[in-house]
Amino acid sequence: MKITSIRAYQVDLPLKEGRYSWSNGNYVEVFDSTVIEVETDAGLKGYGECCPLGSAYLPAYALGVRSGIAELAPNVIGLDPRDLNVLNRHMDAVLRGHLYVKAGIDVACWDILGQATGLPVYQLLGGKAQEDINLYRAISQIEPTAMAANVAGYRDEGYTKFQLKVGADTDSDIERIHLSAAEMRKGDVLVADANTGWTMHEAARVVNAVRDVDVYIEQPCLTYEESLVTRKRTSLPFILDEVITDISSLTRGLADGAMDVINLKISKVGGLTKARQMRDLCVHAGIPMTIEDTWGGDIVTATIAHLAQSTPEEFTFSATDFNSYGTVSIAEGAPRRVAGKMRASNEPGLGVKPIMDALGAPVLDV
Ligand code: MG
Repeated sequence: MKITSIRAYQVDLPLKEGRYSWSNGNYVEVFDSTVIEVETDAGLKGYGECCPLGSAYLPAYALGVRSGIAELAPNVIGLDPRDLNVLNRHMDAVLRGHLYVKAGIDVACWDILGQATGLPVYQLLGGKAQEDINLYRAISQIEPTAMAANVAGYRDEGYTKFQLKVGADTDSDIERIHLSAAEMRKGDVLVADANTGWTMHEAARVVNAVRDVDVYIEQPCLTYEESLVTRKRTSLPFILDEVITDISSLTRGLADGAMDVINLKISKVGGLTKARQMRDLCVHAGIPMTIEDTWGGDIVTATIAHLAQSTPEEFTFSATDFNSYGTVSIAEGAPRRVAGKMRASNEPGLGVKPIMDALGAPVLDV
């Protein structure tokens, strides 16, 4: 089987809440997502999706996805999409870095492998390791009292895990954590995610002020080194996200005891092939994961569901149903949240069927 063409579609994903805000005053109102279609000489088409969280979050941006695919696609035509390690080594050889650009092609090829073998992707990733996948809800950064009210509102929708977007000024962040913690019930989980927004002294003030609160601290500072300083100052459970970008950063974090949990974003690490390697290493090392992505719609949500479905429950700290945050559906067959949980499709591949009217004409056709 050979890849014969690669197309990219651009879709706008507006938010039900109107705006998603995180540290340092950053926000997005309409997400710019790219759907990647890989076609083969066997008549199969696979799909992937890549949606950066704007351009200020990671070294990734929406136009970069598409220009990177334009660069990569001619080099990928002719490869067998079922040979995922061969494909990834080739992509890494012809385009150094830019892992997020490669993620959509990698995921589309997993979709093709599943269709070709008649198996759901979660089975190809190791098999069904759990039934229902626990989801978290990101609580966009607004005034502290309104964030606590949103926590209560999303609990009414079935969520039990809440990730507060902090990383603003220290006093209001301390208030955000205290007010939302007061909304927690037995069994709930609260995370304060600064998304690199604190300097070390600000992080020190926050972790000291909330030392008696049952809360996880996520990615306090911009660099690994600064975050490690904060880690050593607090006994609160600790999550790293933005600085865990590949196996090398993960093994360094493991060696340093730098975190209790990581946030594994599939496009950040280059797709399912590399995410699976990191997932398996984390299970071996005793590190649970939030399995998710930078953002996305139905296809990203389906991809998350397959990786999470094949991850043991005790190592799935949480996952994200991004398709419930937006107003636009781009594929049929994607998981739908029920009582704060979701499941992957049992259909071959990702089990999604893109809604071509929603995708429009391809913006790239190689
Ligand atoms: Mg995070």
